[in-house]
Amino acid sequence: MSTTTESWLVGLIGEGITASLTPPMHEREAQENGLQYLYRPVDLTVNGRSGTEVGDLLRYGRDLGFNAFNVTHPCKQLVMEHLDEVSDDAARLGAVNTVLVTESGFIGHNTDHSGFGRALATGLPGAALDKVVQLGAGGAGAAVAYALLKAGVGELTLVDLDPARVQERAQALSALFPAAKVTAGAAADLPAAMAAADGFIQATPVGMHSHPGMPVDPALLRPGLWVADVIYRPVRTKLIETAEALGCRVLDGGHMAVGQAVDAFELITGVRPDPARMRAHFLEMVSNGL
Ligand code: NAD
Repeated sequence: MSTTTESWLVGLIGEGITASLTPPMHEREAQENGLQYLYRPVDLTVNGRSGTEVGDLLRYGRDLGFNAFNVTHPCKQLVMEHLDEVSDDAARLGAVNTVLVTESGFIGHNTDHSGFGRALATGLPGAALDKVVQLGAGGAGAAVAYALLKAGVGELTLVDLDPARVQERAQALSALFPAAKVTAGAAADLPAAMAAADGFIQATPVGMHSHPGMPVDPALLRPGLWVADVIYRPVRTKLIETAEALGCRVLDGGHMAVGQAVDAFELITGVRPDPARMRAHFLEMVSNGL
């Protein structure tokens, strides 16, 4: 193990995260590895705090003996000015979701992109990556697009309801990955882009229990297209079910949710967790309605 401590105290800082499945995922995997590991939600909503207080919370946590934090909405950018070091990928992406509390200070990483990258490589091995269409260019979409380009996607068409947001994201990604072609599009561009694509990823909230429905016209799906979703409540979204029924290879959003936890757990403990075991636990929790 790379750390000198014999037990771990970890927190998740974000709004409305009390029911997050990340803490139990880490705790169960730690138990399986014989580690003493407590992972507590630090819910800004419950505590009546704002995301701008994330720096104070990190410092209190350090003083109280926390070894690490995951940070989520609305803190992934806000946390950056409080860090002493940031991994190259997190700096390029401009978002941090994991902070290690070390003797040399707070070190930021981003396991959303690496978790999705791992999910893509293991869940859809050999998937063609020449042309990919992605719907949704918000927070999750930024990490997914970064991972796709890092994995070698040649042409990425980003589509979002918010034209300014998608334009800005496409420009930022083009600057980071000059060898790739990143295009900002609108809903009207989807039929042509999807007809020419190898894969389609949806990173909008459409399909969640609280936001049911199909994010794209099912007529745009065809068997040769691989289809990925970032939504994991439910794991089997209407998009995933429809695509699978048509014969598409699919990747559900649970893979990304588990992937970010796998990579964060390893960064925190230095112990490589068992991704399959963590996914099985995750699916068990989701099927129990947690
Ligand atoms: P966000 O609000 O930052 O971004 C959502 C984006 O989708 C916005 O830019 C919005 O304009 C766009 N959008 C919404 N409806 C659209 C539509 N019909 N067509 C095109 N664009 C549309 O949200 P986020 O943080 O990126 O989260 C998005 C989803 O990702 C949520 O459902 C969340 O649960 C899920 N998520 C999953 C993981 C995971 O690990 N699997 C991680 C983070 C978020």
